Amino acid sequence: MPRRNTQPLISEDQLIEHIARRLAPGTRAVSPALVLGIGDDAAILRPPVGEDWVFSTDFSLEDVHFLADAHPPEAIGFRALARAASDLGAMGAHPAFFLLSLSLPRERTGRWLDRMLAGMARAARRLQLRLIGGDTTRWPKVALSLTVIGRTARGAAVRRDGARPGDQLFLSGRLGAAALGLELLLRRHRGRGRTTRLTKAAERRLLQPHLYPSIPLALGIHLAENRIASAMIDLSDGLSSDLTRMALASRSRARIFLDRLPVVRVPAAISRGGLEPLQLALHGGEDYGLLFAVPPARVSAVPRSFRGAPITRIGEFVRGRGVVLVGPQGLERPLAAAGWDPFRERR
Ligand SMILES: [Mg+2]
Repeated sequence: MPRRNTQPLISEDQLIEHIARRLAPGTRAVSPALVLGIGDDAAILRPPVGEDWVFSTDFSLEDVHFLADAHPPEAIGFRALARAASDLGAMGAHPAFFLLSLSLPRERTGRWLDRMLAGMARAARRLQLRLIGGDTTRWPKVALSLTVIGRTARGAAVRRDGARPGDQLFLSGRLGAAALGLELLLRRHRGRGRTTRLTKAAERRLLQPHLYPSIPLALGIHLAENRIASAMIDLSDGLSSDLTRMALASRSRARIFLDRLPVVRVPAAISRGGLEPLQLALHGGEDYGLLFAVPPARVSAVPRSFRGAPITRIGEFVRGRGVVLVGPQGLERPLAAAGWDPFRERR
């Protein structure tokens, strides 16, 4: 393997060649749909008859989605692609291709860029996404825009507007783990690591869901192809916000059974100060599990877990609007969308 060039790159062409080289081996999956990949003015794709292709795009911006001095570069690259791919999972689509638009200051074109691309290449391999193009430019801050393309059989994609009264509500994974990881990272950044009594290994484990989220693409495909889910959305901004979107689109009311929620456990070694597990679970974003509705006749087809991630029935859809929390005595109270919103001040 050639020695890595750790000197800052100079020209845009060099930068593009470097990125293509680092990311091209992302996946070797050959697709007959790919007529022309990276290197020309544009890529050429030829979707086979009988398929729908789904597209999504996602920003990862310095100071909005990550702190360039707090997040490891590998995690910035990994998360940027994982976040985008999560929307493919939410449609039940097979991952196929991606495009990367990248801005960065000159001082991050050397070692920092190498590490960021290494993280993104790891995500591309794991998620089976192949780079087919993009753009780069110099800019005082790091900004990544990821466009992802996925494939489904015609009409098989699962939308968020298909839930009906009587459908049961499920989610995969745990709630609040990514928000807890983010909080730890920020505390460590502010306090230079002296804010918890965790071992290094325990801390790494808790940071993992935030830095390197696992994206349940295979579960989304399973639920779509077996016609199990009537509606689906990924948990990107927090349960309260994402479920509100699904309920609104589906013109139904979602009821969440409070005692069923798979809430993250906050270790005793972490000082609580503002870390309420239920609040993390309801409003903490970036867990990237799937939230999905299932008609009564298909409930028995829902697996209890999928590739290591638990699947939990957390509620149901009824006639009405909005989202309500149902307490142990059956007491209902409305749940307002209070997850991540870039246009609102951070809590
Ligand atoms: Mg989404």
